Amino acid sequence: MSDKRRGLSKAREIYLNRSQRARELKARGKKIIGYPCVYVPLEMITALDLVPYRTCGDMKEPVTEADRALPSSFCPIMRSCLDCALKGKNDFLDGMVTIHSSDPQEKTARVWESYTDYPYFHFIDMPVTIRPEALEYFEGQLNDFKKTLEAFSGKKLSTGTLEAAIESHNQQRTLVRELYELTKPSPPLVSGTEIAQVVKALMSLPVAEGNELLADIMSEVENRTDAPERKAARLLTWGSTLDNTDIMQVLEAQANVVLDESCGGIRAYRAEVRRSPDAIEGLADYYLNEITCARSFRQAILGETRKHYARDLQSRFGYLKGIVKEWNINGAIMLLVRYCDPFAFEMPSLKDYFDGLGIPNTYIEYDYTAGALAPLRTRVEAFVETIS
Ligand code: SF4
Repeated sequence: MSDKRRGLSKAREIYLNRSQRARELKARGKKIIGYPCVYVPLEMITALDLVPYRTCGDMKEPVTEADRALPSSFCPIMRSCLDCALKGKNDFLDGMVTIHSSDPQEKTARVWESYTDYPYFHFIDMPVTIRPEALEYFEGQLNDFKKTLEAFSGKKLSTGTLEAAIESHNQQRTLVRELYELTKPSPPLVSGTEIAQVVKALMSLPVAEGNELLADIMSEVENRTDAPERKAARLLTWGSTLDNTDIMQVLEAQANVVLDESCGGIRAYRAEVRRSPDAIEGLADYYLNEITCARSFRQAILGETRKHYARDLQSRFGYLKGIVKEWNINGAIMLLVRYCDPFAFEMPSLKDYFDGLGIPNTYIEYDYTAGALAPLRTRVEAFVETIS
């Protein structure tokens, strides 16, 4: 990786060639652990001096190999992730950690483990409800994960190293939130496309290198003279994984995307792991309670049997009200990857919530292929026209 590049251009370079740094580190004796979803507690991997690397799909790569193992009417992102793995694009990995964050993730994990031969493979089961019993169960799962990671790395996961790793990952969350603060001005100082590249770059680097890169980017953006131009609308995007900037560029041809609530955007950085006497308990609490993905079933009142719709919407989406106000958002696009049940079932309620806030919104379904870009462009143009 050319060290001459800094800031946004370095992030872009990493985005375009994600595995290069991981391969360099592997050549120096580091072990690289893949993970497909942001619910995997990276702090435990970092604390054992292993390098976490997010395994992503590639919407420009037609799925072929994965057809041997997964049905066609199935999460296209998981199909693409597995396809990339079966084509050897992750052959530098020393191991994989998967998690039951959605049924497609769970089903793909089984297949992934059977069709690949990594020295280490671990599956974390994860409850879908946010209840004390669920937290206790999840903590048990993380302690199992700890045992297999220690056995694989040949090292003990001490409280000290884990707390230091939590500190570094929390610092990264703070820096990403600070970067998103720079989209509040109009025009924003940094584009949604640039931030999508930065986030994907962060998911390809050890946390300390990611924090250095972010510090560079912050000072670059705060002093830049080539800020994005003001567009006809200030959009919030909401969806599962938005990890390809081609989609973001289609959106930003018409509008400024000032906040992306997906796991290619702010989702993994919006909150922090709180300090806890038991670091594993603190991690379980953060990953189960704080990450706002549609895969979790949240109730306004635990065990309630008589639904109060407005209160329910507030408990599930209330955090978006502050975001809409603070980022002066005047339109929301809910992006649905075909066959993604958790997000599909969430859409009607979220639409009601945005309607209740008086925010124009639309939902666009697309399949995770390059062919989706043209129809997406037409839909976005029509929507932005209605709100500008
Ligand atoms: S959308 Fe949710 S379940 Fe899917 S990868 Fe992102 S965080 Fe994980």
